[in-house]
Amino acid sequence: MAEINLFENALKQFRKAAKVMELDPCLADVLMHPKRELTVNFPVRMDDGSVKVFTGHRVQHNIARGPAKGGIRYHPSVTLDEVKALAFWMTWKCAVVGIPYGGGKGGVAVDPSKLSTGELERLSRRFFSEIQVIIGEDKDIPAPDVNTNAQIMSWFMDTYSMNVGHSVLGIVTGKPMDIGGSAGRPEATGRGVRVVTEEAINYKGLDAESATIAVQGFGNVGSYAAKLIKDELGSKIVALSDVSGGIYNPDGLDIDDVIAYRDQNNGVVKGYPNAKAITNEELLTLDVDILIPAALENAITMENVNDVRAKVIVEGANGPVTPEAEEILLEKGIFIVPDFLANAGGVTVSYFEWVQGLQWYFWDIEDVRKALHKIMRQAFSNVVNTMHKYNTDMRTAAYIVAIDRVATATKLRGIYP
Ligand code: GLU
Repeated sequence: MAEINLFENALKQFRKAAKVMELDPCLADVLMHPKRELTVNFPVRMDDGSVKVFTGHRVQHNIARGPAKGGIRYHPSVTLDEVKALAFWMTWKCAVVGIPYGGGKGGVAVDPSKLSTGELERLSRRFFSEIQVIIGEDKDIPAPDVNTNAQIMSWFMDTYSMNVGHSVLGIVTGKPMDIGGSAGRPEATGRGVRVVTEEAINYKGLDAESATIAVQGFGNVGSYAAKLIKDELGSKIVALSDVSGGIYNPDGLDIDDVIAYRDQNNGVVKGYPNAKAITNEELLTLDVDILIPAALENAITMENVNDVRAKVIVEGANGPVTPEAEEILLEKGIFIVPDFLANAGGVTVSYFEWVQGLQWYFWDIEDVRKALHKIMRQAFSNVVNTMHKYNTDMRTAAYIVAIDRVATATKLRGIYP
């Protein structure tokens, strides 16, 4: 497969929206460039006494509406271009749901499954110290992403706090509740996917209880999305998958049981009884009502797009559909809820966590869920209305809503000096 440049693909989406909304080309140029890109190469002492150099990045795409916000991922395929694309999407993600942040993202090129806990901690602390020159609770607030979790956020928070000499809760979100995390943060991205899936079901006139759903990816996003869609909407999750492969049961999977199995089985669903084994490729082409790609980017490309049979795609992952593949899906009339709207629940509850941390005053889970549902439903409805107004698709409409907000902020603030 030809190399896919994620940032170029992200810009293609932006240009399409900029054209439809007739955005001033000078402003478009400003909004397409990341404000800051930091690359760090740093040494980590390994358990065997050797020293290994790792490379990481932190990109701040835009801060017109507030501090940069976005996760940090650990993955062997992390590149500056990938982090730039992900930071770019964070800008539109925060803007489309109307929370007062810009976009940022970070990543380290590493396979964390190959590190001991001690190595992982030393790598995390050193990386965070390296990027400390540009982060801060009112500058840039990191969070979890692929292969990073609440424990890593605790090390980040402690490292920053040790360096400045006092505890700073607002420096990072996705922390455990014992050190300033928010109730409902672990489930937040999955819950947001559940809310927009319900909205998409209603919009397309489907029946929630008889709807069949396949979920690619069983990490933080996919597992909570599958569980909440089954438990709260009553839909049938007929297939799901992770890096080890997929499982399929046309009568519907018992998600709690799959989670229990995964937790006993080295974190993978492979070998789950009560289901047929399928590949990730087969999962994407199942005859289901709704497909939720919630793993990594570029899941649906020109190579497999013609085999996709779902009526609705809800993008739990960032960038799971390439722009060329999307054109084909749109021609076929498939309704796509775009990534930066569908998976905005995580950063929305991160915002609640940050606000709670700055005030040292904490909310209960009902208040978090209620506020999240309200923001997600409002954002979905704004995007649908914009789609009709411009006679366009959901992704382009989501960009128009988001770009309009960032462009307005940029114009009001003016160009310095
Ligand atoms: N990594 C998540 C995302 O891509 C969450 C970011 C955050 O909470 O800041 O949206």
